[in-house]
Amino acid sequence: MPSENEHDIAHELAKLLLDIIMLTDPPDLPACYASIDSLQTLRANLVSLRDFLFAASNGDLSKSVPFKGFIGGTLKSLQANLRHLTWQTEMVASGDFTQRVEFMGKFSHSFNAMVEKLDLTLKELVRKETESRQTNEELLKEISIRKQTEAALRESKEQLRLLAITDSLTGLYNRRYFFELAEIEISKSIRYSHPLSVMMFDIDFFKRINDTFGHTAGDMALKTIAEITSRMLRKSDILARYGGEEFIVLLPETSASEASATAERMRKQIENTTLEMEKRQITVTVSFGISDFFRKKNSEAQEIILSEFISTADQALYASKNAGRNKVTVYTAEEAQFSV
Ligand code: GH3
Ligand code: MG
Ligand code: MG
Repeated sequence: MPSENEHDIAHELAKLLLDIIMLTDPPDLPACYASIDSLQTLRANLVSLRDFLFAASNGDLSKSVPFKGFIGGTLKSLQANLRHLTWQTEMVASGDFTQRVEFMGKFSHSFNAMVEKLDLTLKELVRKETESRQTNEELLKEISIRKQTEAALRESKEQLRLLAITDSLTGLYNRRYFFELAEIEISKSIRYSHPLSVMMFDIDFFKRINDTFGHTAGDMALKTIAEITSRMLRKSDILARYGGEEFIVLLPETSASEASATAERMRKQIENTTLEMEKRQITVTVSFGISDFFRKKNSEAQEIILSEFISTADQALYASKNAGRNKVTVYTAEEAQFSV
């Protein structure tokens, strides 16, 4: 049995050790025990242990384990495992989903499940993204094909429309389309009392060109005449191939005398143009007939007004031919077979 004194000392030491463990600020050894080394070492170890645990509980794993032995070894192992766990978490954060924790029981289980779930979710995301990118690419391809088809369709529609309204040899409007446009111009001219002229021109002795140089050479001459005349007319003028080697022009906002001046310039230009046929240089001439004489009453059918109008220009053209060709003749009202 310890003596009463020994009992008191043991009690005092035990309380001191408990205070070192329990209190926020660990007490120093009382002066009477300060000289006992083992007590000093025990106190220092307990304080170091406190510091280590405090740091670890705040996430600081950098402190070295304070002492050797069973507790020291266990703490070292815990510290190593926690460091490894930190590293593994960093690896997961950087995208390595192969990391698995093995030392922490239920936590390991949850951690591993979380990493697996992350892995699967990410793979699923990547799969969906690839899928949607593919769908997007396919859609874009489809849109581009559709656009191309639409453009081709528009183009072929436009080509068809042009084919329907143009003369294939000269590229000028054909007779049918001329009538369509001319009827609109006639009714505008009547409604607003604006001048309107019609000009017809026909290549002189064209048959001779065909007979001398062949049909292909004749075609070339037709194209040249079409090019020269279309260049010399206004954008608002409507030039068409009327038939064979005969052309027609409707000149809105133009009187017969103005149209006659234009025709004269065209006549001269053609006369002064040399065409090369089978290495021979030839010239052609053209006869013109002009009129601004038509019935200015909208009550009459446009078709009739137009055909009478063209007929007056045709009569003037006939007069040019009769007068020796390569001439411009303007139709005069005295010859009119109808009243305006
Ligand atoms: P004129 O001075 O009286 O107008 O005499 P011309 O020889 O020009 O007139 P005619 O009506 O006797 O002959 C016209 C010729 O134009 C006959 C026809 O074979 C030719 N012709 C009509 N269309 C075409 C064509 O598209 N190409 C070619 N090369 N010739 C054509
Ligand atoms: Mg002719
Ligand atoms: Mg003719």
